[in-house]
This record gives sequence, C-alpha cells and structure tokens, in this order.
Amino acid sequence: MAAALALARRGHRVTLLEAFAAPRPLGSGLLLQPTGLAALRALQLDEAIREAGARVDRLEGKDTRGRRVMDLGYGDWRPGAHGVGIHRAVLFDTLHDQLAPAGVEVVTDARIVRIENPARPVLHDQQGRSFGPFDLAIIGDGSASSLRTAIRPGARAPVYPWGAVWTNASDPEGRFAGALRQVYHRAEVMSGVLPVGRGAKGETNQVSLFWSVPVKDLDAFLAGDFETWRRERLGALWPEAAALLEGREAWEGFSRALYRDVSVGRWNRDACVLIGDAAHGTSPQLGQGANLALVDAVELAARLDRDHRPTAVAVRAWQDDRRRHTGIYQLVSKALTPLFQAHGAFWPCMRDWFFTPMSRWPGLKQLGVLLLTGTLRLGRFPPETKP
Ligand SMILES: Cc1cc2nc3c(=O)[nH]c(=O)nc-3n(C[C@H](O)[C@H](O)[C@H](O)COP(=O)(O)OP(=O)(O)OC[C@H]3O[C@@H](n4cnc5c(N)ncnc54)[C@H](O)[C@@H]3O)c2cc1C
Repeated sequence: MAAALALARRGHRVTLLEAFAAPRPLGSGLLLQPTGLAALRALQLDEAIREAGARVDRLEGKDTRGRRVMDLGYGDWRPGAHGVGIHRAVLFDTLHDQLAPAGVEVVTDARIVRIENPARPVLHDQQGRSFGPFDLAIIGDGSASSLRTAIRPGARAPVYPWGAVWTNASDPEGRFAGALRQVYHRAEVMSGVLPVGRGAKGETNQVSLFWSVPVKDLDAFLAGDFETWRRERLGALWPEAAALLEGREAWEGFSRALYRDVSVGRWNRDACVLIGDAAHGTSPQLGQGANLALVDAVELAARLDRDHRPTAVAVRAWQDDRRRHTGIYQLVSKALTPLFQAHGAFWPCMRDWFFTPMSRWPGLKQLGVLLLTGTLRLGRFPPETKP
C-alpha cells in the first residue's frame, strides 16, 4: 500500500492487486522506528500515526532474575527521538484510506498465481482474470511469498524454528507506557509487551503482548489450557503481564506468527521486482521488517521519479542502494536471533555477555542504538527518508 501510494502521488497509474476478499490487516502491534516514521513523513502520514500510536522511548529486556540484559533509549541516538508502537489495523487503515484519493485502483480477491512475460508483466489471478501488461510489477506478497520463485528460482525462505503467539490487551492505567519491555527465561521463553495506543475499534491504551513458542509446539500450545498458562507460566515469569489478561477465559484474540529468513540474491527479473518481506524478510527480533518495507516503498517511487533510464535499470539502482540497508539487518538478525530463541544455556550466556555491555559502554551503546533505530546503513539516506 505504501508503494502504491507513493507512486500514485508521483503521477503513476497504479493498480493494487490484493489476495484478500476484503482488505484487512493481520496480526497485532508493531514498532515503527525513526526510519519507518521518516518514510511515513514522506507520505504525509507520520502525524496521524504518531497521534494514533503510542510513543516508545526505550527498549528494555530483563531476565527472570530481574537482571537488565538490554536497555537502549532512542534519546541516546538523538534527543527527543522515539519510536511509535502502532496497532496494525491502524497503520493499515491510515494507508488504505489514502489509496482511493490518490487514484490507486484496488482490486481485491485477486490472489496472483502466475506472472507472464516479466519484461512487460501480465499478472493472472486464481479466478482466471488477467491484469496488465504493466511497465513494472512490484511484488510485495510478504515473507511467505508464493511469487518469489517466479522471479528468483533459487530463492530460499525457511521458517524459523521459533514462532510466537500474539494478542492485544487493555492497559487502562498506562503501566506499560513508554517502552517495549521484554522478559527472557534463558533463551527458551521470550515475552514482550508493546504499547500501541489506539486499537482496531478505537479503544485507547492498548498493548500488544507476545510469547515465543517453538513452531513444532504451536498447535499443542494453543490446544492447552489458557488459564493454566496465564497463571503458571506467564504469571511466574512476569506477573504484571499476566494481569493484563485477567478475566480472559480462552485463547480468543490470540494469533500465531511464523517468521522466515528470506534470501533471494537479486530482487528483480526484468520489470518484476520484489519488495518488503518478499525480498528480505527476517525474524522480528530487531523490529525492523515493516520499517524497511516502508523505506523500500518511498525510495522506489523517488528513484523512478528522478532516474530516467529504462525502468529495469532504475530498479536495479534502487535495489543496490536498499541492500546497503536491508542487508545489514538481515545479517544482524540472523546472527542475533539464536541469542533470544534457542534451547540450552549457551546462547543466553552469549546474549548477556553481548548485550549487557552494549547497554552500558558508550561506544557499544551507540552501535546498539543505531541498530535499534533502524539507521545502520552503508551510505546515506536520501532526503525523502532521512530520519
Ligand atoms: C509477530 C510479528 C511481529 C513483528 N513486529 C514488527 C515490528 O515491531 N516492527 C517491524 O518493523 N516489523 C515487525 N514485523 C515484521 C512486519 O510485520 C513485516 O516486515 C511487514 O509486515 C512486511 O510487510 P510486507 O508488505 O512486505 O508484507 P505483508 O505485511 O506480509 O503483506 C503482504 C500482502 O500481500 C498479500 N498477498 C500475499 N500473497 C498474495 C498474492 N499471491 N497475490 C496478491 N496479494 C498477495 C497479503 O494478503 C498481504 O496483504 C513483525 C512480524 C511479526 C510476524
């Protein structure tokens, strides 16, 4: 939606082909970093998002003994800087509401199943309809992309062994305001609470709560007794988080999340190009996926505006530039994920050894803060996405 909007606002004729029968967001909250907020600024949507979301000033991680493993503040990057926790439905609606006024034609119930002639793409959906030919097909079908291998046959996107369950809850007194908080039991359990501000139905003071679960155990986990988990597992790890779910009787409102580690090499084939998670999905430990996708979108539209070479050449140049940003996060994500999601005592020791000084020693802290804010990039941000 961000790419469609950015391109339409720059005068392109855009058709958005969406698999869902009715547009709808999936999942619960996400953390927008200064990078994602800068991309939303370019779309003139940052103020609306700040107003609807919840300000996040720091990321705090503790272990079950109360030891602070991680403590990184946006203010250590730049005074006054912050992230914004946002409910996905709110981000979704904010973007979606702008599509029609910008002239984007939205076609729903259009699950694209085949791409014909990548040099001048025609897209075919599951109902036998065809769309195009287009000058450019931007393929943003997420980390589980079914179209990726049509563009890059050697692409790989294995599912991480760890997934999570997520839900939203009310925090009327704002006890979780101001920070993304996480609690770890070794690296086997990781739970987090993110304030997200307004909910899907306009409720205020909402938070998103997640709990990590190995993918192979997800079905059994959600078939287990909710109250036993809430009291005996979440309650033992983090009583304040368990209190958020008091009065709830079952798993209703929980959704499951799987993550993939996407590697595709080049993102395009002729005039078809992958964007967002379809090109560079990672585990969400660093909270960057949606931010990277938003930056992809805005920078692609800007590049096509100022680069008058053939579309495929301009797209290659955009991609080379973006990979100096996305590549770092893919690499770091891959390296750090086992520190937060693994069995045994080795990886959590490594995590404490790595992150505890990172939160305290000035040089390392600066690196941690760059990582957190999404601003680690080889080369500069162009003016439109400069955080
Ligand atoms: C639990 C969890 C927590 C996360 N937390 C954060 C966070 O805090 N911060 C952050 O930045 N990121 C976070 N992420 C990552 C973030 O959600 C993704 O990086 C982001 O949604 C990627 O956006 P996308 O547009 O590339 O793909 P998606 O959001 O997956 O969107 C893909 C779209 O393509 C459509 N589609 C799929 N197949 C087809 C088809 N064949 N034809 C037509 N349409 C199709 C889908 O219906 C969907 O609308 C988190 C992810 C998870 C799972």
